[in-house]
Amino acid sequence: MYSSDESQQMKLSNGNPIPFQSIIEDNEAGLFYLENDRIVYANPAFVEVLGSTVTSIIGTSIINKAKGEDREILRNAIDEIKKGHSNRFSKDLSLNRNDEENVYFSIHLKVVNRRDGIVEMAGASRDATSRVTKSIKLSIEKSRFASLYENDIAGIFIYNYEIDKIIDCNQKALDFFGYPKKEQFLSKDRFQFVPQSSEYFPKMDLHKLTDKHAERVKKGEAFNVPGIFQGYEDRKFFVRANVIPTFHEYGEAFIIFNDITKSIEADINNKAIEKRYKVIFENSHEGIIYLEANRFEPILSNENALELMGLNDIKEFDNILPHDFIADRELLNTDIKKEDYFPMKVAEAFEKGRTEFEMWARRVNGEIIRINVVFIAENSDKNRPKIIAFIRDITHLYEAQDKLNQKNKELKKYIDSNLELENFAYLASHDLQTPLRSMISFTQLLERRIGESIDDEAREYLDFIIQSGHSMRNLVNDLLSYSRVNTNKINLEKINLKKLLFQINSEMSSLIREKDAYVNIEMVPDSIVADRTKIKQVFQNLIGNAIKFSKEGTSPEVLVTGEETDEWWQFSVKDNGIGIPDEFKEKIFLLFKRLHGVTDYEGTGIGLALVKKIVEQHEGEIKVNSEPGKGSEFVFLIRKPF
Ligand code: ADP
Repeated sequence: MYSSDESQQMKLSNGNPIPFQSIIEDNEAGLFYLENDRIVYANPAFVEVLGSTVTSIIGTSIINKAKGEDREILRNAIDEIKKGHSNRFSKDLSLNRNDEENVYFSIHLKVVNRRDGIVEMAGASRDATSRVTKSIKLSIEKSRFASLYENDIAGIFIYNYEIDKIIDCNQKALDFFGYPKKEQFLSKDRFQFVPQSSEYFPKMDLHKLTDKHAERVKKGEAFNVPGIFQGYEDRKFFVRANVIPTFHEYGEAFIIFNDITKSIEADINNKAIEKRYKVIFENSHEGIIYLEANRFEPILSNENALELMGLNDIKEFDNILPHDFIADRELLNTDIKKEDYFPMKVAEAFEKGRTEFEMWARRVNGEIIRINVVFIAENSDKNRPKIIAFIRDITHLYEAQDKLNQKNKELKKYIDSNLELENFAYLASHDLQTPLRSMISFTQLLERRIGESIDDEAREYLDFIIQSGHSMRNLVNDLLSYSRVNTNKINLEKINLKKLLFQINSEMSSLIREKDAYVNIEMVPDSIVADRTKIKQVFQNLIGNAIKFSKEGTSPEVLVTGEETDEWWQFSVKDNGIGIPDEFKEKIFLLFKRLHGVTDYEGTGIGLALVKKIVEQHEGEIKVNSEPGKGSEFVFLIRKPF
């Protein structure tokens, strides 16, 4: 207690005594007086603090009014004071008050007097609940932030919107922004680390947007926003930022952000891809329909698909059952019902992911078309699986294919019979050689033996037999070489062409002399790659014919020329002979085809067929240009090997 002497000494300026009682009793602060830990006085405010009545407080221990750990703290403090180790105590303590949670009071104790082991203390208390809970919250948040901050889980920096300055940042933030040194980043303000504009938001002033952020922070509002940051060397990146005010009165906030550039870019990219798909979808030559699989209901269709089915609008599908598009002939000779057809194909698509089939379809106008259909199963929405159908009108293709198949069948028949014929020709000609040879030689022997004794007519008969034998031998030989062309494999080698042509020339020298012919070889390539024996047969036949089919009274003149392109060797054998009428220009290349009225010329009708076959074996072709009465030119190509 204050001594009366002291109190009497203290006066107001008007001389009146200070009204201590009223000051104490009416004080908003809780005031009390202790003897050791016992409360001997409590003003009304302190009685209220403890939520009790004066009578139930006076004489009780203040220690029991503290709660939990704080009770021990208070007990220790008072013990210390009693021991004389200290004269003061000051702390925010949690007090027991009507079971209320977290009631904090700041308690101050001061020793006033010590006597006979009793310490007298004056005490004061003030409500500290809101301050303490706030600071606890803050410390919890701080520890939360600290772990985020230090563990670099996200980029974090502390920004003060009042002074517009970055206060601090963690390593992760620095990595995101890319500044080599922390100081470089710390010197930036929001007008530097946020670009003013971006191509992605062309109409937006991003700096103005950060003004709004500043306002919100100052109001203590936490928020989460997408944004664009600008880092070292103006590198821009997309972020999602959590702005959490810490000391909002001072405009300070934690900005916690993640770089979401990759996902944004993927998103932008996806949109571009989607756009591209749309263009493909709309412009595809194929009909594309996107269908709900279970009910086979079109959701989307491109123009082509509608046109294919003979529709103008996707809505028209509503009036038509899917199986109306199936032509009757599609299910002819099957026991599949029309309504089961598409569900069957859909099931197949879901089983394998995709199914492709051809079918006869009926357009809305009744026209029957052949279509190729691909069903792709799309299962991304399990409850509503979809089908993407690609449809192509292949009616023309089908008809062409059908014709081709027919032709192929005929061709196969023809080839088979031709092969049989060639086989037969080979066997026949080969087996005919020996008896033919015997027939000729025995007739010759007979002629020699009885030649003197028979009359002229009989000798003429014998000569005729021998001559026919020779003709037949030629025929058999030609036939044999013709049938051998196919069986002998083509054997490519480098050939000195000039040498080969001169050799042919000299082998034909008797015919040349006999016909008074002139064979001129001009400008042929030095060498070619071909089958020597076969190419020799080609030139032999063409030059031979050129000499043979000469005009009466005119010496045959033959010109052989050749030239080379990247892909081909091209040759020409030209004569001044009788020529070939137009209608025979193709027929002469057929086996045994000889021209009418050319009976004056010996031959078998095999030579040109053989030539054509050999040229074709060299992947070339042959044709004849001719003017009857003036001459002919045989032109042929041989493909150069790679
Ligand atoms: P062949 O010479 O044994 O009769 P080819 O197959 O070599 O048989 O010729 C077929 C036919 O083509 C000949 O019979 C002839 O009527 C005609 N022919 C071939 N070459 C010439 C040519 N250079 N000039 C005119 N007609 C020709």
